[in-house]
Amino acid sequence: MTSVQDRTVSTAEETERVAADLARTLRPGDVVALDGELGSGKTSFVRGLAGGLGCEGVVTSPTFVRMQRYTGDGGEFVHIDAYRFEGDADLAQLGWDELVDDRRAVIAIEWAVRVAHALPERRVDVTLAYAEGDARIIRIRDRRQEFATKVCGVCGQSMPARAEGAFCSERCRGADLRRWLDGVYAIGSIPEDQDE
Ligand SMILES: [Zn+2]
Repeated sequence: MTSVQDRTVSTAEETERVAADLARTLRPGDVVALDGELGSGKTSFVRGLAGGLGCEGVVTSPTFVRMQRYTGDGGEFVHIDAYRFEGDADLAQLGWDELVDDRRAVIAIEWAVRVAHALPERRVDVTLAYAEGDARIIRIRDRRQEFATKVCGVCGQSMPARAEGAFCSERCRGADLRRWLDGVYAIGSIPEDQDE
């Protein structure tokens, strides 16, 4: 269940607004993978994300800076530009694994295609493309829902949110049914006891 949304924009401000809307749904640990040709608005999009996370007015095109960290009202925000990356070693050097595992910051990575296989599957893909005139189409493919989890009502084990029902297995479903029946008998047995 991937949600795909296309938005057409014609100014950098509109691009920022679309990004700010997305930012409001982002939580620490979320990864936004950005792709699109030069000049298609990736940096505007990142600026909008930063704004939406409460880090106003700090994002510049990080042509020679590989990683920038910001702190805002919405928590930490890390901006990585993979444009000049030559391989995964460049990403590893930035402490990528810790960054992803810590889940303390929202991470946006430009030119994500260059490090595609290092990206977590649970992420939001954003692709910016040229359209007619000054227009751009922003495609937001949100894959977070596929990896959302819920908790089994009996054993507490986490399971995919898309799983049917409230239990992780037949065993837990059965245990819940027994618990329910025990409750019914327990309630039913009180008057009988009083009758004796
Ligand atoms: Zn269970």
